[in-house]
Amino acid sequence: MKVCKFGGSSLADARQLTKVIDIVLADPQRRIVVVSAPGKRNGSDTKVTDLLIGLAETALANENTDAKLAAVLERYTSIAKDLSLGDEIVREIEEDLKERLASSREDPGVFMDMLKAAGEDNSAKLAAVAFAARGVKARYVSPRETGMMLEGESGNAQLVEESYRKLSRAFSDFEGIAIYPGFFGYRKDGTVATFPRGGSDITGSILAAAVRADVYENFTDVDNVYPVDPRIVPEVKEGIDTMTYREMRELAYAGFGVFNDEAIRPAVMARVPINVRNTNRPSEPGTMIVQSRRVIPGTVTGIAAADGFCNIIIDKYCMNRLVGFTHKLLDILQEEGIAYEHIPSGIDSISVVIRADRFSKAVENRVVARIKRELNPDSVLVTRDYAVLMVVGEGMAFSAGMLAKATGALAAHGINISMVNQGASEFSFMISIKSADRERAVRALYKAYFG
Ligand code: ASP
Repeated sequence: MKVCKFGGSSLADARQLTKVIDIVLADPQRRIVVVSAPGKRNGSDTKVTDLLIGLAETALANENTDAKLAAVLERYTSIAKDLSLGDEIVREIEEDLKERLASSREDPGVFMDMLKAAGEDNSAKLAAVAFAARGVKARYVSPRETGMMLEGESGNAQLVEESYRKLSRAFSDFEGIAIYPGFFGYRKDGTVATFPRGGSDITGSILAAAVRADVYENFTDVDNVYPVDPRIVPEVKEGIDTMTYREMRELAYAGFGVFNDEAIRPAVMARVPINVRNTNRPSEPGTMIVQSRRVIPGTVTGIAAADGFCNIIIDKYCMNRLVGFTHKLLDILQEEGIAYEHIPSGIDSISVVIRADRFSKAVENRVVARIKRELNPDSVLVTRDYAVLMVVGEGMAFSAGMLAKATGALAAHGINISMVNQGASEFSFMISIKSADRERAVRALYKAYFG
């Protein structure tokens, strides 16, 4: 069985929804279809989820909601009309939205989630009617009825572990095609809760894990995952055909925007292969993301670079002979609630790479004062505006000269390297450079490895 998830751009209008139906019907294995709320139809359009957030905010401010409600409804009405699905589904969606608006506002977070969830819920109901109109045995399946139980903060909820068992049971004897709304579930007290934005990916991934799908197909609007960001290297043509979970994770970490590594965690943990595909070009095989793959020695899979890092650089003579120095340093960071990214170190120095958004000037002052007081270093320095370059590829392991290619290319472009970090598994290395050099560095490395 395949679980397929379609993002907002795939559900944005009648033409896109028709493509979705064609894709699902082209393969009888496609049995669970997770849908997002209708997304943008063009660059200046607004996603239904954003319209719903605006609607909820207006209601919470006790202002008139008529215009905002009409704008949401219009998105569904136009799809229903263009596909000649009749008035009943439109009436049903209108009633649903009004009912949600009339629900309790006692907890604004719960009320907001109730409205946000309407985007995917009604998208799934409408899609189910569209499938049925094509004479297909498909039906809307509700997260409540199947046991998609969530807990935690509104807008940032997490799955309750026991949901996997319930979901697996709910689908064990399911016949036909299930149209399942992404992005939300229910708390034990019955209230609606949503995942973070983009959370339909999480729903799809959870369902793929729960039913042990043969493949989790994630349909979006690109042909595949590219080895480098096409906005930085527009000439990149060839996509990645297969990559491993850990390659994906390292590239996503450094800013590959196609997927959210956190969102696909359930599918990765269950070892379900993930296939990133394009709704607009379904004949393209897309990119497969799997546990292991055959590699060509000496090859790189992808290059990514993310901005917004800073470094704490600490020097202390004979640091390598001091027991517990790093431990104390990490204790200070833990007490400040700061996660670190990398810790390259030498015998007399240690650098901690941190995301700048977790390290405001006020936090920096506190941390530096504590390091001086508690660790008595020879010097401590904080540097900002650094980028992290990741060169990733299972094929790099046990191959000589992989790092040399990168350092050579950067040197040839006059780009200074501030730090290098490579783990013993040898399938990726990190190079820290100044943010201003980021795009130039990516282009230089792309040329060195793929040129
Ligand atoms: N509709 C939600 C959002 O825009 C969830 C999703 O599309 O995945 O964030």
